[in-house]
Amino acid sequence: MNIDEFRKHGHEIIEWIASYYENLGDLPVLSQVKPGEIFEKFEDNPPDQPVPFEKSMAEFNEKIIPGITHWQHPSFFAYFPASSSFPSILGEMLTSALAAQCMVWQTSPAAAELEAKTMNWLRQMIGLPYYFEGVIQDTASTATLCSILSAREKYSDYTINSSGFGGYDFTVYCSSEAHSSIEKAVKIAGIGKANLRKIPVKDDFSMETEALENQIEIDLINGYTPLCIVAALGTTGSTAVDDLRKIGEIAEMHNIWLHVDAAFAGTALLLDEFRHYIDGIEFVDTFVFNPHKWMLTNFDCSAYFVKNKEVLIRTFEIMPEYLKTGVDSLVNNYRDWGIQLGRRFRALKLWFVIQSYGVEGLKNKIRQHLDLAANFKSWIESESSFELLAPVNFNVICFRYNPGNKTENELNEINAMLHSKLNASGKIFITHTKLNEKYTLRFVIGQNLTERRHVDEAMKLINETANEI
Ligand SMILES: *Cc1c(COP(=O)(O)O)cnc(C)c1O
Repeated sequence: MNIDEFRKHGHEIIEWIASYYENLGDLPVLSQVKPGEIFEKFEDNPPDQPVPFEKSMAEFNEKIIPGITHWQHPSFFAYFPASSSFPSILGEMLTSALAAQCMVWQTSPAAAELEAKTMNWLRQMIGLPYYFEGVIQDTASTATLCSILSAREKYSDYTINSSGFGGYDFTVYCSSEAHSSIEKAVKIAGIGKANLRKIPVKDDFSMETEALENQIEIDLINGYTPLCIVAALGTTGSTAVDDLRKIGEIAEMHNIWLHVDAAFAGTALLLDEFRHYIDGIEFVDTFVFNPHKWMLTNFDCSAYFVKNKEVLIRTFEIMPEYLKTGVDSLVNNYRDWGIQLGRRFRALKLWFVIQSYGVEGLKNKIRQHLDLAANFKSWIESESSFELLAPVNFNVICFRYNPGNKTENELNEINAMLHSKLNASGKIFITHTKLNEKYTLRFVIGQNLTERRHVDEAMKLINETANEI
């Protein structure tokens, strides 16, 4: 492709993107293809000769688009959103145009310095104390792994990095509702899944802090070294929030590393009314939230904040000769702030988003979602045949259909059926969880394009589909 063709196709693709967004609401939100269907549409051998770009674009429309689940669809109420926005898309395009490797300062000073600046902005925006320093990771899973590895190194005096595991019986703590990435991190960090203590939760699905204290006492008696507690600020199942102050006091008393997983709900901290959830932040070592979930910045962009960057850097630092530069003591070389060497210029799309919306604009968007969620919650409460299954702390409503006179097993079957009928309609997409063994429908309102009418239509559809069952 030469520069003239690039210019021509580039304009066409912007047109394609704009039309896609204009008509997105009419597409089936959940892809309706069968397993293997897309794979079969492509040749078994790669093309020997160049294929004209027009033909690839035609195949993209015919063969690929039907196999896409439309995450930016206004009726996408599943999982947690991966909400994007036009400024974010444009920023991402520029990142791919520059195609820079931002591993050390010298490989693109602007990438390193804009990352430091936007992380400072985010820190202020969500009300973290001034001493936190941020780095962009690809995902919250990676950030949590970095946190647990940092704790492991600090508490082993960096000897596991240098001489391997041996002689340490570490334990890690989180609630039974905490995200699976914590278990994954504990496995990868060599601590062992058997040494992850999943602490029971209260009725509101937040960690039972007395049970945490008891478990730590038992582990100490049995010769374990409690290493790290992961507190959830918004669990994935029901957005429950652990009591950070209580957990922080326990962590401090026993000298345990404290990480906060706010992957989804961290964005709500932009609003003052949610800041009480980080009461106790002074006890926290590391904190992660994902602008790529609810803050309109397209995947991937996870904001990882650390109280003490020396621990992070000592855990990950490498200094091969070919990467040494004359300014290493003056700048942030982010290759030492995480796992990968090569890094994308992710701060650019984040900067475009914050510039374009302003903090006020982002707050307004979050408020709109919260208002719509409050409305949906009131609707569930007003309907005698539906019930809430968890407190609504943010914009996630956990509910089920309960027409009365049914056993728990029957209710689970009915709700699984309702769920699959709703998704098969292609009109909305929601996902489920199990809370206290109950099949729970999760309705999440966090899409950039979602308006009141989309939520109204969803309520109507849920009501009608439930009545048909
Ligand atoms: C989504 C989520 C994660 C994982 O996020 P990734 O960025 O996909 O790794 C971790 N914790 C919580 C609470 C989440 O909601």
